[in-house]
Amino acid sequence: MKAESAHQMRLLDLQDIDSRIDRLAHRAATIPETAEMRRLDSRMVELRDSAVLAETDLSDLDREQRKAESDVDQVRARSERDAKRMAAGQVSSPKELEGLQSEIDSLRRRQDELEDVVLNVMERREGAEARLAAARKELAEAEAEREAAAERRSAALLEIRADEDAEKDRRGRVSAEIPEDLLALYTKLREQHSGVGAAALRYGRCEGCKMALSTAELGEIRLAASDDVIRCEDCRRILVRTTESGL
Ligand SMILES: [Zn+2]
Repeated sequence: MKAESAHQMRLLDLQDIDSRIDRLAHRAATIPETAEMRRLDSRMVELRDSAVLAETDLSDLDREQRKAESDVDQVRARSERDAKRMAAGQVSSPKELEGLQSEIDSLRRRQDELEDVVLNVMERREGAEARLAAARKELAEAEAEREAAAERRSAALLEIRADEDAEKDRRGRVSAEIPEDLLALYTKLREQHSGVGAAALRYGRCEGCKMALSTAELGEIRLAASDDVIRCEDCRRILVRTTESGL
């Protein structure tokens, strides 16, 4: 392929612009806030789950507490009725009196047990309330953090988009100066070689693959016409001669 030396040089400018556009796209795709937002999203799912779990525990414990309290009330009422009967002197037979007294004693023990149950439920309730409050607090913090990260991400993206737009404007102007066949070859090579289609020959070295050219290769290039399009023997990219080529 043939192309004026000036056009080949222009290809290096185009390569610079394209590499910058690629770096900007990479930056947009790897903004740290994106990962941070994903991490916060999954943390928020966990926190909502633990809040729901604590709420369920609380309503179960509420039911347990009401049941234990009503058991205590029943036992207390029965025990008071027995005590009244005794005080009123309604029971006279010693055997019946003894039976009543033993019932009062066993009701008192039952009442003590039930009151322990109520205390135990209340303690567990405090634990569940603390868990719920902690989950809600952390959830609110995570939501605020996520919002801040989303704002930072938008600002960073706006900046990147503005840089991209400016580079794309320049690209339009530069690519318009390059002959179509050279541009097509560059585009094809860029796709095949991780975004780099053209590289400078700099002090006997290909800037694309960083390989030093052999003396024989350099000799051939020295003999080539200035409008010959040279390709690197190693990476096959377009090798552009410049004043720093060391020929
Ligand atoms: Zn090369």
